[in-house]
Amino acid sequence: MRRLLTLLVVLAASMAGVVAQQRPTIRLSDRPHRPIDTLATEREGVKLVLYSDLTYDYIDLRRQKWAEDEIFCGHWDTLKIFAYRDIELKDLPEEIEVKLLDALDDYHCPVMGRIVSRYGPRGRRNHNGIDLALKTGEPIHATFPGRVRYATYNTGGFGNLIILRHPNGLETYYAHLSRINVKVGDWVAAGEVIGYGGSTGRSRGPHLHFEVRYCDQTFDPQHLIDFETGNLKYGTFLLERRYFNIRSRATEGLEDDESLIDPSALVSKADSDSISAAILAEVDRKDREAAAKAAEERAAKYHTIRSGDTLGGIARRYGTSVSAICRLNGISTKTTLRIGRKLRVR
Ligand SMILES: [Zn+2]
Repeated sequence: MRRLLTLLVVLAASMAGVVAQQRPTIRLSDRPHRPIDTLATEREGVKLVLYSDLTYDYIDLRRQKWAEDEIFCGHWDTLKIFAYRDIELKDLPEEIEVKLLDALDDYHCPVMGRIVSRYGPRGRRNHNGIDLALKTGEPIHATFPGRVRYATYNTGGFGNLIILRHPNGLETYYAHLSRINVKVGDWVAAGEVIGYGGSTGRSRGPHLHFEVRYCDQTFDPQHLIDFETGNLKYGTFLLERRYFNIRSRATEGLEDDESLIDPSALVSKADSDSISAAILAEVDRKDREAAAKAAEERAAKYHTIRSGDTLGGIARRYGTSVSAICRLNGISTKTTLRIGRKLRVR
């Protein structure tokens, strides 16, 4: 209560200050966006910043420290799923102490759902994560605070995939999402809704495929989380090298193998009635868009400009038109054709 009062007093004082400085006709949107005060919050390391335009923001001071940390500077690949290709399993220590909690609200279960497929070997392949049943559109939460390293549609089977990197070096993977709510580089707090569950990619029905990795190496997420209760098992976890996948390179398990899921254990698509039609339509549209884009990229063909080339000549050679080439490359018929430049012709 006292904190709330203080906040109100500070807000009132700052409003009075701003109003006194400005002419009365000025609109709120015209006010400069300047920080005017910083207040402590109940969460350690988290401050509330008030701005002169009466907006406010939470700032996690730990993020500034993390941003400079080697964990977020090295091996930061936002285009590839695996970022630690130069580190082999044998290079990792026998035991790694992984601090899971800095503050009490540093953990949130990604989604509460029945386990429909566990981590482990599946014939010639491995199932590198755990599958949790859900309804399409159900919110997916960041398990720990961290930064978004990867957030896009993945054609290798994961569908819409988010990878978060956490300050303790762990990465968490959230696959088959119907919608992605974050972008690469975003900092997220534990519990933040990063996307919505779905069935994109190689999937037989709505579920979350959830992985935990350290330097690309997987281990069973059930080491960390009790998915029955949604609770974290430890505050600090001793990650032993023997917990890692029996394969030496995790990259071999790129595809998410859903072939052993019991389809009856999944929530059927018909069960997802409660989800608004608008979300589903949006999801379908994004899916089609992503598939069309992937198909287009597969079909793309390029021509490297050589001396003597003309747009007309290139168009004839590839059985297309000058206007189509111009459209694909964002150029006009008057654009100079630089030798060595790659033009997309299909
Ligand atoms: Zn899976």
